[in-house]
Amino acid sequence: MTSAPATRNSPMSETRPATEDRPLIWIDGTLYPKSEAKISVYDHGLLYGDGCFEGIRFYNKRIFKARAHLDRIYRNCERIRLPIPYTKDEMLAMMRECIDANGLTDGYIRLIVTRGVGTLGLNPFKCERAGVISIADTIALYPPEMYENGMKVIVAKRPRTPTACLDPSLKSLNYLNNILAKVEAIDAGVLECIMLSTEGWVGECSGDNIFVVKDGRLLTPPLEAGMLDGITRAFVKDELAPSLGVEVEEKWMRIEDVLQADEIFLTGTAAEIIAVTQIEDTVIGSGKEGPVTKRLRDGFRKVVSKDAPED
Ligand code: PMP
Repeated sequence: MTSAPATRNSPMSETRPATEDRPLIWIDGTLYPKSEAKISVYDHGLLYGDGCFEGIRFYNKRIFKARAHLDRIYRNCERIRLPIPYTKDEMLAMMRECIDANGLTDGYIRLIVTRGVGTLGLNPFKCERAGVISIADTIALYPPEMYENGMKVIVAKRPRTPTACLDPSLKSLNYLNNILAKVEAIDAGVLECIMLSTEGWVGECSGDNIFVVKDGRLLTPPLEAGMLDGITRAFVKDELAPSLGVEVEEKWMRIEDVLQADEIFLTGTAAEIIAVTQIEDTVIGSGKEGPVTKRLRDGFRKVVSKDAPED
């Protein structure tokens, strides 16, 4: 560290130039300017992808589904026997501190729990203490016009990691399966891909969950098909769609079922709700964002809008 970190008690960050030094990033209790926010090369998060993370949105300074995200990361860390050295309330306060310290109103928080500093061997228990990092920044996953026009996707050749090997519901720091599928999409000139299980069931996308609209009803694969249990998926399925009188069913689907959909949309914290209007050469429905997707997208906007009550 070349200079003292900026903490709540030393607001030196205020005098620093923008760009390189913003955002201020929280690492284990201290806020560092971006250019000084660094971790050890012996951290097992870096050496082995050993850790968990969350992507969380805040709208008008309110953290959307904060408790659900915290519950998920605590659950996942417990599954990999990684105790988080803070309480959920402390983590929540820390995220609010990151938003305030950076003067942000709308944005995205990347919350990371790494195994921490250890030896070059695999043994995770040689790492003394988990490291916690929180980055509050802005995000734009897809270009704005894609939300109006819908997006084209492909079907990845690479299947999703089988649950027995590494459960896709574990939001771990090891995202290579998703990244390599994303590379397939980019090579094909698109930004997202549908991923199938090794048995050929539709699961999710490289960084989003998937919904299909058929005869006015929403269908989405069950978690057992192998996917992240998306917070946005749960919100759409259990709250938003029912509040708009749209029926939802979990259904095992083949890619042929998806290709015959009236509408398709993806959900994710960063993506929110976005229509898929083409899968490879197949145009979906009218080729435009469908009416059910539009209602849900408008409904989502309302829930997270400026005037919405605190979650
Ligand atoms: N699937 C994967 C693989 C993801 O990484 C994500 C998050 N980007 C999602 C689905 C969507 O989950 P959430 O709604 O919790 O962001």
